[in-house]
Parts: sequence; structure tokens; C-alpha cells
Amino acid sequence: MSSFSAPKGTYDLIPPDSAAFLAVREALSAPLRRAGYGYVETPGFEHVELFSRGVGESTDIVTKEMYTLTTKGGDRLALRPEGTASVLRAALQANLHRAGGLPVKLWYSGTYYRYERPQAGRYRHFSQVGAEAIGVEDPAVDAELIILAADAYRSLGLGGVRLLLNSLGDRACRPGYRAVLQDFLRGLDLDEETRARIEINPLRVLDDKRPEVQRQLAGAPMMRDHMCEACKEYHERVRELVDAAGVAFTDDPRLVRGLDYYTRTTFEFVHDGLGAQSAVGGGGRYDGLSEMIGGPPLPSVGWALGVDRTVLALRAEGVDLDLPAATDVFAVPLGEEAGRRVFALVTELRRAGVAADLAYGGRSVKAAMRLANRSGARYALVAGERDLAAGVAQLKDLESGEQEAVALDAVVTELTRRLG
Ligand code: AMP
Repeated sequence: MSSFSAPKGTYDLIPPDSAAFLAVREALSAPLRRAGYGYVETPGFEHVELFSRGVGESTDIVTKEMYTLTTKGGDRLALRPEGTASVLRAALQANLHRAGGLPVKLWYSGTYYRYERPQAGRYRHFSQVGAEAIGVEDPAVDAELIILAADAYRSLGLGGVRLLLNSLGDRACRPGYRAVLQDFLRGLDLDEETRARIEINPLRVLDDKRPEVQRQLAGAPMMRDHMCEACKEYHERVRELVDAAGVAFTDDPRLVRGLDYYTRTTFEFVHDGLGAQSAVGGGGRYDGLSEMIGGPPLPSVGWALGVDRTVLALRAEGVDLDLPAATDVFAVPLGEEAGRRVFALVTELRRAGVAADLAYGGRSVKAAMRLANRSGARYALVAGERDLAAGVAQLKDLESGEQEAVALDAVVTELTRRLG
């Protein structure tokens, strides 16, 4: 034990659990890679203003949860609390929107930082896999992303993920709704901070999870009753396409999300096995964001799926991922000369694509075989002085217990054949 431990709200990913984490990252991004999304990686920190302008001055993420710092050179930076603003910034900076056809489709995987109150499923350092389709206003793009996320969860064997869907309207109809909602909210009994929020971003009050607030919101006006024809049609088309792909969803007229930039399509994936932090992923359309950060009009849509919470959801459902064995062959050299030969064989096996490991430190047969069994390997490759003199090594199938001598120069071919 060291005298240090991981900071509050963070945890270390260590074997064997880390293997499931990597597999989840892989599974969440696999559908994107099959759908024309290119990988993008942006810095872990950005100028503070990118997030305050992009994510929104009225959001908890910006006002309370951002890790900010001033560099020795005087730059004000923030650890990234989310991915969309950075990815859009990177796409604009590289002029990807001018380079070829739109949409620019990008995916990312990374760690994000929010100074939140830690609890089960809520950390200060967490991982997301995300996707953005930049520059096109077409319900099919919204539907594509929703379907890809649903397919990703399904590929993991998760059965309990539910999709909630809503539309937040657009520049034409939202201002009217906003005014009606503000009128309603001003008449409620709310604390000062929430009253301030009514003036800056009233939709976010609908997202307030406190029961005493939710109770008062029962008769709140809903966006869907104030939506313009264009938004209604757009939303209906998204619903049709998602439905036709066999992805079930629930219309949730109260769904708003904690970031300011969303317009029209908004969605969240929730899992009921996770307690209070039930959102495993979410996203939506953000048609105004590019202009908010100084770019041209580029209507876009995206999502971010939480890797940590997806792992928790798998655990809650008792799903065991089919992970490839970390080690297929574990070698046990007995004696110094055997150590040299076996080390060379293991190197050869690895170069031939076989996952191989060996016992180090001149252990006894018994101790080394214990390691072999613990490694999860299918085969143990045992060689002592006498084996070497006969030009062989003993190949033991650790499942059946069967053992046979294999010529040293045939070991690699024999094992690659057996392991398929
Ligand atoms: P958001 O950007 O808040 O919509 O987050 C997208 C997804 O990231 C959520 O649905 C969660 O799965 C995950 N997420 C967000 N914040 C946290 C956090 N503090 N700890 C763990 N996962 C998080």
C-alpha cells in the first residue's frame, strides 16, 4: 500500500476488470466504424471559453463542475467536461466541413472530467465513446446515430436499455414555447437559483430531479404542443426511421438535457438497474453550436455513451462478456538452459500471433504450474533438461489434463494449429 490513493471520485481500472472495460469501449464504437465515422482525438483540455460558450453559461457543467486552471503563460484552460464542443472545434479548425461531402462523421473515445458529487455511477473522471455527424439537417442522420447506439448496447447483450425520445423544437418555435414556459415557471414556489435559471434556460428547470420541483411541474406546458410544422414533420420522420429499424423507444415530452446547445431531436438511453444515475448515454441535435463557437451554420447531431455506466449495467444484468483469453499458452522452463530455449519459443509464439506468457524467476514445477493454471491459458508448455536433450517439450492441455511430447521445432506450428 502506498501512502497515496486515487483522488476522490476517481477509480483505477485494473485487471481483470479492465478487460471488460476495454471490450465495452470496443463494442460501443464498432457500429460507428462500420458506418463511415472516422476517429478523432482532441486534447484533454481546451480554452475555458469553448465550453462556457459551447456547453452553456447556465449549465451545471460549466458553472459548477468544470476543472479550470490558469497556465504559467496565463491561458485559462479547462479539463474537458464533454466531447462535442471539442470535436466540433477540431472539425472547424481543420476545415473538415469544406474538404468533402457533408456530413463530417466522427467518433471518439476518451476520458472526461466533472467536479460532481461522487456516488455510485457518478465519477469525477469518467469515459465516454461519442459520435458526431456534422453539417447536415436530415432526420435520417439523427435516426442513424440512434440506431447505431441501440445496436451497440444490443451487441453487448444488454437487454434493459430503454430509449427515451423527444424534440426540443428549433429557432422558429422554441422562443414562443420558452416564453410560455417562463410564465408558468415564474408562478411556482422555487428557490433563488432555480428562479435565476428560469430567465437563462427555462427548459432546464424541467430537468430538475428534486421531487418538490417535479410535483409543481405536473401542469407545465410541453414543447410538443408548441412545435412548428417543420419540427413536427422532422420529428415524425426520425420516429418512423428508428421504429422501422426495430429499435423500441418511448416518447418523453419532458426529456431535456443538461447542455444548452440542443435543438430538435433529443434522446437518452437509460438502464433501470443503476439507481439514481440511470442514464447510460444520450445526445441530440445541436444546430446552433457551430455558430456559437464562431463557425459557419452547421446543423449537426451526436451522442455520447458512458463506458463506466455501461459496464455497471452489464454487471447489474449479470452479463458475462465473451472476452478473448489473455494468455493461450503458458510456458514453464525447468532449469537455466531450458529457460533460454523456452524464452525463445515464447517470443516465436508471440510473433506468430499466439498469446503466450512464461514463468519467470526460476520457480519450482509446482509453483510454475500454479501460475499456468491461474493464467487462464489453454496449454502449458513444459521443458526441462531431459526434454531438451530429447529435442522436445511437453505440451499439456490444461482443460483435459492430457500431455504429449512435441518436437521443439514443431511447437509453434502445432500450437497455432491447435488454437486455430
Ligand atoms: P452527458 O454528456 O451528461 O449527456 O453524458 C453522457 C453519458 O456519459 C451519460 O449518459 C453517462 O453515461 C456518462 N456520464 C456523464 N457524467 C458522468 C459521470 N460523472 N460519471 C460517470 N458517467 C458519466
